[in-house]
Amino acid sequence: MFMRKWLGFVMMVVLAISLVGCSIQVGDTATTKSETGLSAKQLKADAAGKLGVFYLDVGQGSSQLLISPAGKTMLIDTGDIDKEQLMLKYMKDYDIKKIDILVLSHAHADHIGTASSIIDQIDIGKIYMPRAGNTTKTYENVLKSIKNKGLKVTTAKAGITLDWDEKVKVEMLAPVQATYEDLNDTSAVVKVTYGQSSFLFTGDAERVSEKDMLESKADLSATVLTVGHHGSSSSTSASFLKKVKPKYAVIQVGAGNSYKHPTEVVLNRLDKQGIPVYRNDLNGQVGAITDGKEIKWTLER
Ligand SMILES: [Zn+2]
Repeated sequence: MFMRKWLGFVMMVVLAISLVGCSIQVGDTATTKSETGLSAKQLKADAAGKLGVFYLDVGQGSSQLLISPAGKTMLIDTGDIDKEQLMLKYMKDYDIKKIDILVLSHAHADHIGTASSIIDQIDIGKIYMPRAGNTTKTYENVLKSIKNKGLKVTTAKAGITLDWDEKVKVEMLAPVQATYEDLNDTSAVVKVTYGQSSFLFTGDAERVSEKDMLESKADLSATVLTVGHHGSSSSTSASFLKKVKPKYAVIQVGAGNSYKHPTEVVLNRLDKQGIPVYRNDLNGQVGAITDGKEIKWTLER
C-alpha cells in the first residue's frame, strides 16, 4: 500500500517536471509559436526526412524557407528592410546554420530587404538572382554583401535545374525573357517537386511573365501555388491558374497593406475553383510538411 502511494507521488513529480519543461520550450520560441503549440524547433523536427515549406510571416513582403528530406535548406526571398531582426530570429529559431540555396526572386525591397544581413551573417551555398537589377540602396547593399563574401551569383532564368536534394526536383520556370518592362515580371519562378507534392513559388510575376511561362510549354502544374504578387489583380490570370491547377494556395501578404492586396478578383478566382487559401495576414506563419504524398498544414493562428 505504502509502495503504491510512493510510486504515485514519484509519477506526479515526474509529470510536473515534464510540464514545466514543455512550457519553457514553447516560451523560448514565442515568435514562431503556432496555435497548436508547435515551435519552429518542433516544425523542423516534424519535417525531418520530409519536405518542409514554411511561408514566414514577414507582413507585406515575401519569404519562404524550405527544408529538404536530407536537411538541405533553401530560402526564397527575405522580407522587407524593416524585417531584419524578425528574419534573423526566424533563422535562429529554425537553427539555420547554412542556406544551401538563396533565391532572390527580383530586385524589389519587399523581397530582398534583409538579404544583405542574411548574407553577412549566415553561410550561403549558391545564390540565384535574375539579371535585371535596381538602382536602390537596398539592391546595392545586397550586391556589396555578395561581393564581400566572395559569392558568385547564378543568373535565375527559365529552364535551369537547381541541385539541392537528390530526392527533390527544383526547376526554374521564369523569367523566360532576359529583360522585361516591369521589374515584377523578371521574378524567378521556382517549382519544387517531391514525390506527388509540388510547390510553385512565383515572386511578383505578373500576367506578362505568366503568358511567357504558358507559352514556354513548361509543366506549370503544382499542388500548392504561392499566389503571385501578394494577390494583386495583375497576377494569377485565369489561364495561368487553370494550367497550375493547384489544390491549395498561399498568399504572402501583410494586414492592412496600402496596396489593398490581396484583391477581390484574385480571391474570387481561387474561390470559384474551390481552392483553400492560407494567408500570412490571417493565419500568421503558414507551414506545409509533406512526405511526397500528403501535405500537413500548420497555421500559426
Ligand atoms: Zn512583392
